[in-house]
Amino acid sequence: MRRVERRGKHQLIVLDDGRTLHAHFRMTGDWHLDRVADSLPRFARATLAFDDGSRVVLDDPRALSTLDLHPAGAPIELGLGPEPADVSLTPDSLATALSKRRGPIKPALLDQRLIAGLGNIYAAEALWHARVSPTAPAKSLAKKQVASLLTAIRRVIDRATGARYTDSSVNRLAVYDREGKPCRRCRTWIERIVQAGRSTYFCPRCQK
Ligand SMILES: [Zn+2]
Repeated sequence: MRRVERRGKHQLIVLDDGRTLHAHFRMTGDWHLDRVADSLPRFARATLAFDDGSRVVLDDPRALSTLDLHPAGAPIELGLGPEPADVSLTPDSLATALSKRRGPIKPALLDQRLIAGLGNIYAAEALWHARVSPTAPAKSLAKKQVASLLTAIRRVIDRATGARYTDSSVNRLAVYDREGKPCRRCRTWIERIVQAGRSTYFCPRCQK
């Protein structure tokens, strides 16, 4: 194996012969590291065994992960927008992209063509930090709100990368999954709505 690259929520594992193994974990997948001689974890879906006796196992209870092997030199088109840390992503560029969108901001943020790597939890957290309503039409946001949102996205993603978002001890969530609990800023009860089939958590007072 030569190297591993991350693009949004995808991993590209470049093998010694130049082929690329493309992994996408989706909901519950993760790599489990062990030895070839170990017994497999319960939800093992695929294994990669190395010459030194180590092994990487794709462990996924819900089996939604995908692995694709691409030939050497073949371009891999993932259809992703800029990464949050990308310098080409600015309040201006984001505002321009949002001005062409129909519908509310929250589902727009989940579109990987807009910004790569933003998932449902991060989108809710970023909107709360930026005090933007998840139901606000994407094209209606003022420049100042877009700038706050971009800062919040970078903050949330920066804290999340390398950690498991489900590990609440690593990453205390501000708003996600806190329906009926007091807002950490204003003590108003957090509400939950469903947008494009996904749960959205928000503070009806801070996020108007
Ligand atoms: Zn609040």
